[in-house]
Amino acid sequence: MAGEPQKDCLFCKIVEGHVPATIVRQTDTTVAFRDINPQAPVHILIIPKVHYDNAAALAAGAPEIAADVLREAQAVADDEKLESYRTVFNTGPGAGQTVFHAHAHILGGRGLQWPPG
Ligand code: AMP
Ligand code: ZN
Repeated sequence: MAGEPQKDCLFCKIVEGHVPATIVRQTDTTVAFRDINPQAPVHILIIPKVHYDNAAALAAGAPEIAADVLREAQAVADDEKLESYRTVFNTGPGAGQTVFHAHAHILGGRGLQWPPG
């Protein structure tokens, strides 16, 4: 069921503390941790504690938590002293989504090209 923990979901396991992660922030509804394979000097993932497959499903099923994720993006940027940063939601394998638990990538700490690849 949407929102319920998924047995085989890596990010649900991080929320539950069953898989280690370098957690930088937590709220009642979100966890932020460093990406294991950083694509920029600062690369942090923000996830809702509840399981939704992607950002659109989260926004449809729990819009207030989708807003929490976006609010946390600025909080992470402030903590990391990022003046500029990029927030990315990959949706679907063709866009590079590999973990099917909604997450925002926060990328910064270097100049970021636009348009992205
Ligand atoms: P995506 O490709 O958009 O689904 O993003 C998934 C991200 O999760 C990738 O950038 C991975 O490097 C990252 N990732 C995978 N496993 C872990 C982990 N155990 N801890 C932190 N980040 C991870
Ligand atoms: Zn999950």
